[in-house]
Amino acid sequence: MRDFPMCEECRREYTDPLDRRYHAQTIACPKCGPRLAYIEGGREIEGEPIGLAAAALREGKIVAIKGIGGTHLACDATREEVVAELRRRLSRPGQPFALMAPLPLVREFAEVSPEAEELLRSPRRPIVVLEEKPGYLAPAVAPGLHTVGVMLPYSGLHHLLFKQLHFPLVMTSANFPGRPMLIENERVVSELSGIADAFLVHNRRIVARCDDSVVRISGGVPTFLRRSRGWVPEPISLDLGEEPLLALGAELNVAFALYHRGKVYLSQHIGNVAHLET
Ligand SMILES: [Zn+2]
Repeated sequence: MRDFPMCEECRREYTDPLDRRYHAQTIACPKCGPRLAYIEGGREIEGEPIGLAAAALREGKIVAIKGIGGTHLACDATREEVVAELRRRLSRPGQPFALMAPLPLVREFAEVSPEAEELLRSPRRPIVVLEEKPGYLAPAVAPGLHTVGVMLPYSGLHHLLFKQLHFPLVMTSANFPGRPMLIENERVVSELSGIADAFLVHNRRIVARCDDSVVRISGGVPTFLRRSRGWVPEPISLDLGEEPLLALGAELNVAFALYHRGKVYLSQHIGNVAHLET
């Protein structure tokens, strides 16, 4: 919260031993705290940013949404022309898109086993690969596949957004293929201007970039397709001896692992190291 100096009123609460917010480190108010902005056509639009973004999504627009560990591109996952347009702008013809929706909505378009439900609802909130129920989603979400990757809303912003939406969203990571996610607002807006129609951003810095984790349940056991947000850098216990070890790779989906005293620390998914920025 260093970027948001307390206003006089917040400081008074923070420094008063009799106040319930005494030394509450995240103290902030609408005057001095982080704020959201909705940007369209190169300028900030006045109004309530989440409501404006929800209205744009209902109209079939593609909205870039800044989150906790990076930025997502979002659009209505039930409209074929909208999802196909996102594919065209991203030049990504085949790779399946991940979705976000509240659980009752997920049940409309996917089979949710008790194991899957537990994973979906866990605080780690991964993308879980589920069997798709045909006929609900736009075919362009996951062309040629009978499965779909789904996550539940996991930030306050997501929850507020879904209060105003009644359809699932495509929520695909707004990184250019194989590069780390975009983190600063100016870069988000300038580099995604040809892809997103509008932007819902906040002015907090993203300190650690982190993609959504992807998990598939096979034989009742969760298996990682991508071990990232929610799991890293939590260590895995493993006895590999006294010597510290560093493992790096592979080229297309790079992550690293550092072994030290019986614990392996895995990094998040980083990207394709053929690109200089990665
Ligand atoms: Zn304040």
